[in-house]
Amino acid sequence: MGGFFGVASKRECRTDLFYGVDYNSHMGTRRAGLATYDSAEGRFCRSIHSLESTYFRTKFESELTKFKGHIGIGIISDTDPQPIIINSHLGKYAIVTVAKICNIEALERELIDSGVHFGELSSGTTNQTEMVALLINRGKTFVDGIENVFARIEGSCSMLILTENSVIAARDKLGRTPIVLGRKDGAYAVTSESTAFPNLDYEHVRDLGPGEIVEFDAEGERQLRAPGNEMQICSFLWAYYGFPTSSYEGRNVEEVRFAMGHEMGSKDETEVDCACGIPDSGVGMALGYAAGKGVPYHRCICKYTPTWPRSFTPSEKSMRNLVAKMKLIPNAAMLRGKRALFCDDSIVRGTQLNDNVQTLYDCGAREVHMRIASPPLVYGCRYIGFTSSKSDMELLTRRIIGELEGDPNANLEEYTRTDSPKYCAMVEKIRERFGLTSLKFNSIETLVKAIGLPKCQVCTHCFDGSSHF
Ligand code: SF4
Repeated sequence: MGGFFGVASKRECRTDLFYGVDYNSHMGTRRAGLATYDSAEGRFCRSIHSLESTYFRTKFESELTKFKGHIGIGIISDTDPQPIIINSHLGKYAIVTVAKICNIEALERELIDSGVHFGELSSGTTNQTEMVALLINRGKTFVDGIENVFARIEGSCSMLILTENSVIAARDKLGRTPIVLGRKDGAYAVTSESTAFPNLDYEHVRDLGPGEIVEFDAEGERQLRAPGNEMQICSFLWAYYGFPTSSYEGRNVEEVRFAMGHEMGSKDETEVDCACGIPDSGVGMALGYAAGKGVPYHRCICKYTPTWPRSFTPSEKSMRNLVAKMKLIPNAAMLRGKRALFCDDSIVRGTQLNDNVQTLYDCGAREVHMRIASPPLVYGCRYIGFTSSKSDMELLTRRIIGELEGDPNANLEEYTRTDSPKYCAMVEKIRERFGLTSLKFNSIETLVKAIGLPKCQVCTHCFDGSSHF
């Protein structure tokens, strides 16, 4: 997905920018970038680093003093190198995006045919952020250009633009990804994750609405485009991506995870001795499950954090699996002889489950039960670049459906209906494959109820195939 932070301050902005971007580190794994505008020297300063071998702070700390000025933007990116800096009829500006553009090839062809060229090809393909900038440049104003982006792309796009005087923040037209506005004495800031605000002393002003555009400097903010009525915010923000202290649309991530677990625990008749969360995103749900079920919460698995920072997740699959395994350490003393129930955020490909369930039995667990916050992922994400589901056929559910039906695309609608015979057959096959004593997924209804927004405002495409472009 990715997360960004932008700031305009009466003081040098580099410290807030540095920590503000760092607090978005859990949102992406590939690259990070910062840009500031120094009005005294009349120039942008920019830097981009890979995050595949280390994490944000170590990459940027040593060069921080070179970022001068009172306005800046930065990003943790799951996609291309950014920010990119543009000189156009709208003026000079830097831009970062949290975006997924499904029709990028068609747009690229169209722009090239009209005489436009692309220059940011260092990752081998068209840079999504450059594509967004070129679409903006087709407008008479920034607002006009951003509306062109909203109209032309299939997928989603939230962005920050750093001009020579201000920061412009535009939330995706259907609000798939969030932007939160904050304020403190002498400064305004925007962030994908509201977690960035408390320790930097920003108070929450409001969440931008879907399609809303605001411009701000250190003195204040003004709305350039009113929000639309329709919203499709990603439900996976609460189940998987979000940091526990973040909130979107007024709903806190940890609260939602706890509520999901509580609802599940209070209805679950399975006899267990304890509940345990798979760190980090399974912990809130397991605490709720334990409270709802009336069993103790135990740390039967712990995450080794001193040398494995949260943001260090390499993009290469085999390395990622190794790191994921090495970070989690089972505690045999807490597992021995127990009927242990684990909560996790989702099952995507199932590769981690393969290794880990047997380890739990090897440590002496008598039974291993699994409860999953998200409903089964039956469709790949077309909207935010949820990295683990690039292709529908990579999903464990599709492979299982293929085995059950002889065709991974057969009867999908029935597999998304909780407790239908086909749904039960699919869940049972997954349970059997991983040697689990029992396996249950949250229903879409429980997920949406815990989020607390009307179903029509929440994207659940990867669970039920519902589509809004
Ligand atoms: S398809 Fe899934 S991951 Fe993608 S935006 Fe919708 S809910 Fe989020």
